Amino acid sequence: MSGEAQIEAKKTALSIGIVGGGQLARMLVLSGARLGLRFKIYDPAPDACAGTLAPLTCGAFADATALLAFARDLDVLTFDFENVPASTLAALTDDIKIAPNPAVLAMTQDRLSEKAAFAALGIPVAPFRAVSTPLQMLQAVQELGVPGILKTRTLGYDGKGQTRVDKLSDAETAFARLGLSPCVYEQLVPFSRELSMLAVRSENGDFRSYPLTENVHDAGILAVSLAPARTTPELAALAEAYAQNVAERFNYVGTFALEFFQVAEALVLNEMAPRVHNSGHWSIEGAECSQFENHLRAVSGLPLGSTAVRQPSLMLNWVGELPNALPQLAVANLAWHDYGKSARSARKVGHSTLCAESFEALSLKLDALQRQSPTRAGGLAQGLLNRYLRP
Ligand code: AMP
Repeated sequence: MSGEAQIEAKKTALSIGIVGGGQLARMLVLSGARLGLRFKIYDPAPDACAGTLAPLTCGAFADATALLAFARDLDVLTFDFENVPASTLAALTDDIKIAPNPAVLAMTQDRLSEKAAFAALGIPVAPFRAVSTPLQMLQAVQELGVPGILKTRTLGYDGKGQTRVDKLSDAETAFARLGLSPCVYEQLVPFSRELSMLAVRSENGDFRSYPLTENVHDAGILAVSLAPARTTPELAALAEAYAQNVAERFNYVGTFALEFFQVAEALVLNEMAPRVHNSGHWSIEGAECSQFENHLRAVSGLPLGSTAVRQPSLMLNWVGELPNALPQLAVANLAWHDYGKSARSARKVGHSTLCAESFEALSLKLDALQRQSPTRAGGLAQGLLNRYLRP
């Protein structure tokens, strides 16, 4: 079928259910409304921020019966939150179209199976050991050495559920600190910088990637993204090959992110997010078709949009509380995103994306904004842009 015929055949407004009602769901709804898609949200929290844009059903992620009832009249079920219990997902699969497929969600829910899957694909990961007992913890630290990071196998994100180990004598306390739950101990990677690749694959196997994005974290939480990252063509091609390899191996449908550490001219994969990702927010204004729209196109069986960059883009994450909106709104070509959440420590409450014709122009605009209304993310972004302009 030609692209036009496909679009014709899909004209009826599809109904999409999103499991998880946070800011990712909210931005999916914002981009999908323009395509004529209709949405329903499922989240345990009655004040989930996507619930102001689409009907919200409240229920636990582990409640398979409630999720089944929610999903019954949908055309497709997708996610802004990937940690839905595998057993719940298994109960849904027979009756409902789910994208991305639950097998990939289950794989990424457990850091051990995730690392093993990537290693099997020939993608470098930090040397690691599974840890389930204090003795295994001691052995892992003896074998891999220090410094290292102990991470819970499940439910860790934004630096939560992990602790650094600097001495062999810290091994047992570190394991106890994470509640003696099943963990992975991994070597600390001596990276020069953190990069991510957003990519999307459609039902018919069309694959596209966005250019590599450079990310700066603050206390384990993403603070700044700059795209396109300045890299060699070889590094960009390597990241794209890894992403395509992962997408094809898992028959992936939708947008996903791979988070890398750069070590010299190699990439070490830290983790995969089987969903749209914070480090791709810049694509709303900075790319021809955003990660959100491309995810929806993919899961709806529509042709993918271009992932080409319109302009160099800088994303500043607002964590904990929003800065004063007015100086931000006064900057030309700055997009202000307020997720409608109340302020809370370590909570992502919004972001700004600044676009300009060059890194120099981005830097000038950012410096002016910082003079007027300094923010911590802005300061980190100044440091990053300085490295680009004055290496
Ligand atoms: P994660 O929860 O795995 O995404 O980790 C959050 C952040 O901790 C990463 O973005 C890195 O800044 C840092 N980190 C995690 N694992 C490692 C590692 N093996 N080596 C160095 N830094 C790490």
